[in-house]
Amino acid sequence: VTQGDTPSTGSTPNTQIRRLPERQVHDRAALDALLDAALVAQVAVVDEGRPYVVPLAFARDGDRLLVHGSTASRAFRVLAQGVRTCVSVTVLDAVVVARSQFHSSMNYRSAMVLGAFAQVVGEDKDHALHLLTARLLPGVDWQRPPSRKEAAQTSVLALALAQWSVKASAEDSPQDDPSDIDAPVWAGVVPLTHTWGSPRPAPDLPAGVDRATPRAILDWPQGRA
Ligand SMILES: Cc1cc2nc3c(=O)[nH]c(=O)nc-3n(C[C@H](O)[C@H](O)[C@H](O)COP(=O)(O)OP(=O)(O)OC[C@H]3O[C@@H](n4cnc5c(N)ncnc54)[C@H](O)[C@@H]3O)c2cc1C
Repeated sequence: VTQGDTPSTGSTPNTQIRRLPERQVHDRAALDALLDAALVAQVAVVDEGRPYVVPLAFARDGDRLLVHGSTASRAFRVLAQGVRTCVSVTVLDAVVVARSQFHSSMNYRSAMVLGAFAQVVGEDKDHALHLLTARLLPGVDWQRPPSRKEAAQTSVLALALAQWSVKASAEDSPQDDPSDIDAPVWAGVVPLTHTWGSPRPAPDLPAGVDRATPRAILDWPQGRA
């Protein structure tokens, strides 16, 4: 499947959720919103028959997901070969405390993307590195760009958003068994929010550099996780 004919639902037999299938979200906009809220993806790599799950910073670029890392990293060496992978991105929204342990659960938004990464090279690599910085450090336009040597040490990989699934749970209240409802115990939903803390300026900022947090960072969107 090429980027142009990417199915909007991402549906394939491999991306069909079996347990609680009513929690599957087929809306492509929900996938984009989740990928744009999250900062970290868990990426599966099998090396010499052993599976590893590697957390990586990532950015969505239209119909593809971009990651970057050291050319020396095992994950990047393996993934650059175009082998199959599974990328998982999750944002936890709440813990649901039911009357029973069995019905306690979590509210979440979670995506899986299946496929194989391809190496990004040339001008597209420059564009991808620029986009990764813009997505991970929005508004931070004052940094030194990578040197030629640094860029050469960095591998950029892209995964098409072709085979994907989104699962979301957003319970307003615990789904307890009717026989447990009268139990004299607390039950409810405990939301978990994601907010930035107070930025700490580097202790070695040279004299003359404003220690106040730059406006661009104060404007970072809340809710990223
Ligand atoms: C924060 C969080 C906590 C969870 N905790 C538990 C837990 O403690 N115990 C438990 O049994 N389950 C838990 N789940 C659900 C779990 O991730 C799977 O959805 C579950 O194992 C059901 O898998 P399945 O057998 O239906 O699908 P599988 O056969 O495992 O998968 C089939 C296809 O469904 C899609 N899919 C399955 N799960 C997800 C998902 N979470 N997000 C996006 N796509 C998915 C994928 O495309 C996959 O290829 C949790 C999910 C989240 C996000």
